[in-house]
Amino acid sequence: MSARRKRIVLLGATGSIGESTRRVIAAHRDRLELVAVAGRGRWEQLAAIAREHGVREVGIFDEGALAAARASPAAFPPGTRLHGGLEGLRELARLPEADLVLVAVVGTLGLEPALAAIAAGKDLALASKEILVLAGPFVMAEARRHGVRILPVDSEHNAVFQCLEGHPAAAVRRIVLTASGGAFRDWPAERLAQATPADALRHPNWSMGPKITVDSATLANKGLELIEAQHLFGLRPEQCGAVLHPQSIVHCLVEFTDGAMLAQLCPPSMTFPIQHALLHPERPPGTEPALSLERAFGLEFRPVDEARFPMLRLAREVMVAGGAAPAAYNAANEVAVAAFLAGRLPFLAIPRVVETVLAEMPTLPSPDLAAVLAADAEARRRAAAHLPAANP
Ligand code: NAD
Ligand code: MG
Repeated sequence: MSARRKRIVLLGATGSIGESTRRVIAAHRDRLELVAVAGRGRWEQLAAIAREHGVREVGIFDEGALAAARASPAAFPPGTRLHGGLEGLRELARLPEADLVLVAVVGTLGLEPALAAIAAGKDLALASKEILVLAGPFVMAEARRHGVRILPVDSEHNAVFQCLEGHPAAAVRRIVLTASGGAFRDWPAERLAQATPADALRHPNWSMGPKITVDSATLANKGLELIEAQHLFGLRPEQCGAVLHPQSIVHCLVEFTDGAMLAQLCPPSMTFPIQHALLHPERPPGTEPALSLERAFGLEFRPVDEARFPMLRLAREVMVAGGAAPAAYNAANEVAVAAFLAGRLPFLAIPRVVETVLAEMPTLPSPDLAAVLAADAEARRRAAAHLPAANP
């Protein structure tokens, strides 16, 4: 048992990862303590979370929701401090009493809070994969400079982290991330043109936020994860692969130079990787039951058809191109997915928008962080210009 509880800051507390994280913390109150939470709006839900966990540092990004919360101080535990906007997220990330910051906000907004946490010497548990896709080399270099750990929360990366422990980098031939195939895994290709947001949000195995669920349907999620893995584990692009595995029980395969493979298995629930990241290197009992071997089940693997999932092919291309190309891939994808979810873009146009933007963007061989952020903004502008005009 640790001498004192590990103090956790949770950015993105009202989302899907946030909910699973709160379950893990509630199941391990002897080892973990939630000290700060943040979300975009939904201040009443944040207040309820603060009351349940006795949290007195609360971040609310949206101005309107922040004003409403300030007008209702009785909803929060006595002495609660409210933090607004991006600066509020940064303040929470460097909270003096915190040991670990879990970043689980959607998209790249979490980059600055993540860098603030690293600079303040906090360990980082990273769910927001877009951060490493945008700025992987900078985030990893900062973590090394400040001697902090980056603990992967994404299930596949958490699985790789577990399989790699104790093995020298030179012994690793490649890693293979498993992909469920998303909502359209079993759809005939000709039906995809009609796919609606409601169809894409019906994920067969995982319950997650809307953006990542659409990314699962295009396999952009796996593309983003390959780029994320490259940075987290210091691998070359050709050492990162993906395989279709419909059951989502095996989360990765790590192949060593002698041809042996290690895999990590657990039920498809994020409490497993979240618990591992929050409590590493301890392994107390799980938040949920382990995989049952009392009933028969099969594990199936098949190659991913990249013709059917162009977002995976594009991810591989931007990994090889390097520079600001992964940032542009991610930025254009964020814009296209938001437009698809808003009913403004057909499903099959998501990869078309991303491919068009990538073709338009200049290549930047070794950009600094400012150039990468500029490329991100430029790719967003260009992607928006390729969306169909909004209905009057
Ligand atoms: P979600 O949409 O369910 O929740 C997002 C959370 O971020 C919410 O709490 C929301 O309030 C908060 N947020 C959004 N914008 C914000 C802002 N401007 N300021 C403060 N908070 C803000 O999303 P999710 O499924 O929980 O995913 C979160 C991240 O974790 C994503 O980057 C996703 O790729 C990654 N991830 C999720 C899963 C999963 O199972 N859900 C698995 C692996 C990785
Ligand atoms: Mg994942």
